[in-house]
Amino acid sequence: MRVPRVLAINPYIYDFAAYDFWSSPLGLLYIAGILRQNGFHVDLIDCMSVREEKRKPDGRAPYVKQKVAKPDVLGGVRKNLRRYGVSPEELSAVLRGMEPPDIILVTSIMTYWYVGAMEVVNLARQVHPRSKIAVGGIYPTLCREQARVSFADSDLVVPSGEMGRFYGFIEAATGRKLDFTPLMDNLDILPYPAHDLYGDIPFVPLLTSLGCAFSCTYCATSYMYPTMTRRGVDSVLDEILHWHERGVRRFVIYDDSFLYGSRHHARPLLQRIAALPFPVDIYNPNALNAAFIDDEIAALLARSGFREVRIGLESVDPEVQANTGGKVTGAVFERAIASLKRAGYGREQVRAYILAGLPGQPWQEVKKAIDYLKALDVTPSIAEYTPIPHTPLFERFKDSARFPVADDAIYQNNAIFPYAWEGFTEEDLNYLKRYAK
Ligand code: SF4
Repeated sequence: MRVPRVLAINPYIYDFAAYDFWSSPLGLLYIAGILRQNGFHVDLIDCMSVREEKRKPDGRAPYVKQKVAKPDVLGGVRKNLRRYGVSPEELSAVLRGMEPPDIILVTSIMTYWYVGAMEVVNLARQVHPRSKIAVGGIYPTLCREQARVSFADSDLVVPSGEMGRFYGFIEAATGRKLDFTPLMDNLDILPYPAHDLYGDIPFVPLLTSLGCAFSCTYCATSYMYPTMTRRGVDSVLDEILHWHERGVRRFVIYDDSFLYGSRHHARPLLQRIAALPFPVDIYNPNALNAAFIDDEIAALLARSGFREVRIGLESVDPEVQANTGGKVTGAVFERAIASLKRAGYGREQVRAYILAGLPGQPWQEVKKAIDYLKALDVTPSIAEYTPIPHTPLFERFKDSARFPVADDAIYQNNAIFPYAWEGFTEEDLNYLKRYAK
């Protein structure tokens, strides 16, 4: 029987700034793993190539980039727009050198990156007109209607919660019944993401859970994953061993709520990782929740290989803390920092995120948070607010941004500072970034 051929593509992006902070098209790689388990042949083109010679010891690296002309809609933005990753010409050449796939899968991740994904879909359609093209990812999940228009050239645009529809499409496109059609409600039965499709694997992101117990007003996690789902500790350990045998030493925890209910998840998992006969390096680009860090957890983070700990403060103002979700208070945060210090983490290894650019936020509030963190001997890290559809903050303030954020996802890019106002200007933001350093 002929083996169906699938091509998975992670598109290049257009942005004003981008850097590979352990990013990976994890959803696409999970889908690739599932289709391989069904007997499909899968190839991968990851357009987000990095400058390997500049890769840091921790695995991060700058993307290949090129300055490009801004589209008219971004004409007023006083920053250079760049394409990050390979050029359309390079992608086109690679596509032309391939046997036409039966199916092309394209992921579209951040909402405001959709233009790159759209170009990639159009290019794939030109080069392989008979292939069936499906687009998934965060953009189709959060901007369903707009994504349908953006990807009119594709055969399927599918939000992440509609796996049944996706499998039906694959069966119809290939004429093959799929034997293995897991939903995302049992992470333990999923095959490992297909990281092996990369030559070298600089790091492996570990998804140990999906969803979050909180509902912060600026965050779409509870919309994307209404219930929390967790993997068993054995399953995560097996995955670490699997990749370690293939030479991987760096792992990245992507979970949104890794430490929640830690007695049944993070504690036993970290204990097992700490007891491995080899060291690993672990990074957490998504912040850990300070409310769940005590002396025992902090010591376990250090023993299991967390080289640094990223933690969420967001604001130092008690009212803002309470109104945006109540995940942390000053007292709770300080207790967590004290535990991390006792576990041996120094200033450079404890980074706390502060939200900047919330609707109506005065710049002084961010400066206060920076001063607070400096006094605690913690490295401040400014996270610019991104308006994300289906979040309470987005719904409440979508009409008061200085760009029409609800009409076109391109305006949801935090780099264009959608909620700048006279009390918090771009100059203020630049000052705060320098001040935080
Ligand atoms: S705790 Fe983090 S992941 Fe959970 S809702 Fe808040 S911001 Fe989102």
